[in-house]
Amino acid sequence: MKAQFWGVRGYVPTPGAAFLRYGGNTCCVSLRGAGGELLALDSGTGFCQLGVALMADDFQAGRGELTLLITHTYWDHFLGLPFPGIVHIPGNQLRIYGPDSARGPLEMIYDNMLAPVYSPVFGLAHIAATHSFHPISSEPFQVGQLTVRGMPLSRRAQSPIWAYRVEEAGRALVYITDARYTDDAIWREAVHFARDAEVLIHSAPYLRGEAVRDYGHSRVEDAIELALEAGVRRLYLYHHAPTRTDDDLDALVARCRGELAADGQRLDLDAAREGEIVEV
Ligand SMILES: [Zn+2]
Repeated sequence: MKAQFWGVRGYVPTPGAAFLRYGGNTCCVSLRGAGGELLALDSGTGFCQLGVALMADDFQAGRGELTLLITHTYWDHFLGLPFPGIVHIPGNQLRIYGPDSARGPLEMIYDNMLAPVYSPVFGLAHIAATHSFHPISSEPFQVGQLTVRGMPLSRRAQSPIWAYRVEEAGRALVYITDARYTDDAIWREAVHFARDAEVLIHSAPYLRGEAVRDYGHSRVEDAIELALEAGVRRLYLYHHAPTRTDDDLDALVARCRGELAADGQRLDLDAAREGEIVEV
């Protein structure tokens, strides 16, 4: 399985010279299975870049198939869907999994996003690719040879947040974002969910010592502690804060690696970088 980062930023995109090396698009990661299966985790603005890359593939001819796994419907995980050409070419197939909201099903939320007040697409009915919506549950399902598992991380009724684990031939990638470990039960579930993963992609916009008004996200230290407790091999810090420049992220990675080495820990750690391909 091959993962590729297309957007690694949280909250809002960050164009600008200080952000070129890690990239400024919001959340999107693709996963390609050995059998050609294609998944995308979240559809922030990074989804537009993925769409451009896929136009060189079967998608240009209307023969592409993509399964989207949406963690939640905040804009930085969601907004990219209507922009790439691939979703406007008849014959392409999009299967979209994600949590329903207490306000209505995922399909309705996407449809509202495309309403005439927000978008010239005028609703999901005008997305030419064949598309279907599937409420996520804890029941695992297959995409070809890939096994997909979901886990609810936040039970907020309006905007539930789910994590995903994708496995192929005994190797797993786990994707956790926008989670806050508010109690021991959620922490234990997350550790169990990430157990022995080859790769953990985990949002980590801030350190515990940073005085920021952000209550929805766990901190860098949480991501590291989770990876260690779950026996993960490689951790990618993700959903970078818009204020983190390339130099800041280099310094953050160096500091975390130094602390892990001083502790005698063997966890591989890096900050997710737009365009980077990760062999799982
Ligand atoms: Zn986010």
